[in-house]
Amino acid sequence: MTDKIVTAHTWQPNRFMVIVGHPDDADFGPAGAAAAWIDAGAEGWLVCCTSGDAGGEDPALDPLVLARSREEEQRQAAKIVGYAGVTFLHQPDGSLVNDLPLREMLVREIRTFKPDAVLCGDPEVVIHGGGGINHTDHRAAAMAAVDAVYPAARNPMAFPWLANAGLPAHKVRRLYLMWSNQADTWIDVTATADRKIEALRCHSSQLHDPEAVFARIRGRLAEQGALSGVTAAEAYRLVVLDQDPAENADVEEGLTAEASGTHS
Ligand SMILES: [Zn+2]
Repeated sequence: MTDKIVTAHTWQPNRFMVIVGHPDDADFGPAGAAAAWIDAGAEGWLVCCTSGDAGGEDPALDPLVLARSREEEQRQAAKIVGYAGVTFLHQPDGSLVNDLPLREMLVREIRTFKPDAVLCGDPEVVIHGGGGINHTDHRAAAMAAVDAVYPAARNPMAFPWLANAGLPAHKVRRLYLMWSNQADTWIDVTATADRKIEALRCHSSQLHDPEAVFARIRGRLAEQGALSGVTAAEAYRLVVLDQDPAENADVEEGLTAEASGTHS
């Protein structure tokens, strides 16, 4: 028996939300999967906790000017990916903390948009598998997103003024954790890899040698694709919190997973 047979992931949400620390994280991260799901008919929403106001090399630069241009870059990129909209929570870049106010903001976003799936960072990653430190804002955004999904968004008694104001509890059924050291799920982005690169191109304030960055990203997508039998893939750690309602169950995926004996 083959040691590890992985097939590209086939489940798709009707609605999904991407929650990240900075403008550009979503495009370095799940833009390929997001575009693929949107092409298949899903609606996606992007939440950036900060506006990247510390993402420069010049201490004399006005952080608010930088924030404004980075928000504009992200809005352009989001259009290319096809998100229905973007929310900026305007938290301070470099100082993001997984505290109750941030979680409340995320719960408000989740209960407003009502996603089936949330894509965010893996809060367990401090050091990346390939080396390098996971930025403190990435960690804080990831932990806050996970905490907002479970239990807060689904608990009507968490931030009860939200439910009382017309935002009832909402169950997100799945988490897709990007940049994980424990990836177990590969999403085929062969058809959307070019759009991911075009979305990345919008972040010109962050790209000193864009073509080198794009080559590196394409190489990584190809590497992950090779693991799952497709040309290009993004890797995720999947957390299923609730199975889909029976009428929407993805029977085919269940059979594939069972036959290969690998991912859930
Ligand atoms: Zn970042």
